[in-house]
Amino acid sequence: MEIIEIRKPGKKKKKVRALLLFSGGLDSVLAGKVLEEQGVEIVCLTFRSSFFGAREAIKAAAEQDWPLIVADITREQIQVVENPRYGYGRQLNPCIDCHGQMARIAGQLLQRYRADFVATGEVLGERPKSQNFQALGLVEKLSGIKGLVLRPLSAKLLAPTLPEEKGLVERDKLLDIRGRSRKRQLELAEKYKLKEYLTPAGGCLLTDPGFAARARQLRRWRGALWPEDIELVKAGRVFLEAGAIIVVGRDERENDHLLRTAGETDVLITTAGIKGPLAVVRLKAEQGADDGQKAGKGRQLQAVFPKAVSDGAETGNQKEPEPVESLTEAEPEKVRGLELQALVMKIQEGRLSPEAAGTGAEEVWVLKNPAVREACLLTIRYSRARHLERAAAAIIRRGKVFRLEFEKAAWKKYLPPQP
Ligand code: SF4
Repeated sequence: MEIIEIRKPGKKKKKVRALLLFSGGLDSVLAGKVLEEQGVEIVCLTFRSSFFGAREAIKAAAEQDWPLIVADITREQIQVVENPRYGYGRQLNPCIDCHGQMARIAGQLLQRYRADFVATGEVLGERPKSQNFQALGLVEKLSGIKGLVLRPLSAKLLAPTLPEEKGLVERDKLLDIRGRSRKRQLELAEKYKLKEYLTPAGGCLLTDPGFAARARQLRRWRGALWPEDIELVKAGRVFLEAGAIIVVGRDERENDHLLRTAGETDVLITTAGIKGPLAVVRLKAEQGADDGQKAGKGRQLQAVFPKAVSDGAETGNQKEPEPVESLTEAEPEKVRGLELQALVMKIQEGRLSPEAAGTGAEEVWVLKNPAVREACLLTIRYSRARHLERAAAAIIRRGKVFRLEFEKAAWKKYLPPQP
């Protein structure tokens, strides 16, 4: 687990310090305000993973001038998604286990950040499944820090915690909010003069039906969820073959996402001499690719995820690419990020005309995978080249670029039926 101190907590400044599980949503801000009002020092802990980001939390912590620690829990969260003890919510979201895990991580960090207890913005009954009496009890049990998880917004409705019993926190000054109405929270937002009424941070892809379907398919395909696969399928049209994932970008934003998330061994495909999408082919493994070769014969690819993930999908965790001045095709290690983008543009604009695929080992290896041919045809099908009688796709892998040409008959089967 990677921990980044966005705003360093530094030395303990007050007698009591709380480590606040912080999403940046209104409830978590209010939980901090209620404690701060009685002299408790707040240190925020937020999480990010392949399924959700920390942008809201970073913004909200800066507004409140609270220190903030970000923990990347991608791998930990995947383990919970793979095997939740308390099941899923409506989609692939194992919220009880996930909350429990977050509280447990916070508990493990208490000493490191010299905090006396963990606080959360949970409100009893706000979410019927994950914030009822039983669920809050389970979260505390999973946290491994019994008695040290304080929910300031509903504390008076819950059993007293250790910080209350020890007098570190005055129970009388805590609240008794219950249920789904946001009325009390909005009144408190007025009271604390919060600039804007923050909405719950949300944005977890595991709760998105479209993404959850993708993730389930991906898990069946790979046998497990891999973070790099999750990143790849966050955008674009996704097709699964026995031995490969093919993702075809639908617009510039998705093409950029694919460029940033494509791995060293992935195959990139675009149209040669005409503007078109970018496709990424990720081969499962040599063995998987061979299986795909057998299974893929004469079989038309099915778009298993034709719809986009919600627009709010978090795809922005990657670094902004640096500007690039030149591209040397002979240096494979340079063919990354924006350099790849520059290469793709050159190919599409016809400023670079790749040679036809030859008999080199790399070319032969790539071309023996039927998914590569399918991806070429899909790339042409989703470009203006589909109107031509003949079109070429450029294939990029490990710094090598070569072309494959096709007749219209080859991609015709991917076109929608004529009325
Ligand atoms: S919505 Fe997502 S991040 Fe939040 S508790 Fe549920 S699974 Fe975890």
